[in-house]
Amino acid sequence: MTRKKVTLMSGGAGFLPSHMCDQLMEQGHRIFCVDNFITGKKTNIAHLLKDKNFTLIKQDVSRPFKIPGKIDYVMHCASPASPVDYLNHPVETLLVGSQGTHHMLEIAKAKKAVFLLTSTSEVYGDPKEHPQKETYWGNVNPIGPRSVYDEAKRYAEAVTFAYRRTFKVDTKVVRIFNTYGPRMNLHDGRVVPNFIYQALKGLPLTIYGDGKQTRSFCYVDDEAKGILRLMFSNLSGPVNIGNPGEFTIIEFAKIVLELTGSRSKFVYEPFPQDDPKQRKPDISIARAKLGWEPKVSLREGLAKTIEWFKENL
Ligand code: UDP
Repeated sequence: MTRKKVTLMSGGAGFLPSHMCDQLMEQGHRIFCVDNFITGKKTNIAHLLKDKNFTLIKQDVSRPFKIPGKIDYVMHCASPASPVDYLNHPVETLLVGSQGTHHMLEIAKAKKAVFLLTSTSEVYGDPKEHPQKETYWGNVNPIGPRSVYDEAKRYAEAVTFAYRRTFKVDTKVVRIFNTYGPRMNLHDGRVVPNFIYQALKGLPLTIYGDGKQTRSFCYVDDEAKGILRLMFSNLSGPVNIGNPGEFTIIEFAKIVLELTGSRSKFVYEPFPQDDPKQRKPDISIARAKLGWEPKVSLREGLAKTIEWFKENL
């Protein structure tokens, strides 16, 4: 019998990582899921806890730690990821991107494991190139409120590439674009849970600024599949994984109203500092080299997400 592949995943109780845990368990992996539960939720992985191949470890990866035995894949996904969460935990966000990445890389190096960093479209900042290709270096304010996340992830990419060059660790970097779906934290302040919650409760939808800023939303199953496709490939990246369908926030709000059948009105609130005015991934590399592209349309994915929110409100 062949040995099960072993994956160590930081932040595994978070929204997107919990879906990657599901997909890896289906593929027969053994998982060590590490989370400090600042923003992760036990309910996201509760269904996996009874499986003997799934081990949950409460640990802050910004502090050094050890895992005994063989590890084949190290996935560093831990970090607050919504603007509200990382603004509430600025120092923790910087530490998990810097020291946390360093500690996870040390484990990958010691275990001779493949290392994958979940980076972000936020490394492009408020982009001057549109759509964003992986070659774009970005437009980030290094001292603005969002810098705690953007610069932490930029540092995380830099240290990952330094380990690749210096220690020959087999590293991969994925840049994740806005992802949504079941298990999103209802109160993380992001546009998807905010609008669905407001629409279902008959509250006004809070549009920040004039609502003409754009985002490109990827359904979580698609996103998780794309990331795992990269992990099992021979690419090092960075690779954009996201859905290139681009919507203004007003367009997005109208779709939420249509799908929920809500008669909520819009209320306009101030535009957050350094909020990117446009975002859309160029996924030519993912298409050509990973044979991956998203399959779930925004309406289809949102309908499933709305159902989940209704059941979990
Ligand atoms: N946004 C909004 N109303 C909300 C929450 C967010 O208009 O209640 C806007 C926000 O200003 C941004 C976009 O929606 O332009 C996406 O915000 P989100 O926090 O979901 O993610 P981001 O892409 O900014 O990390």
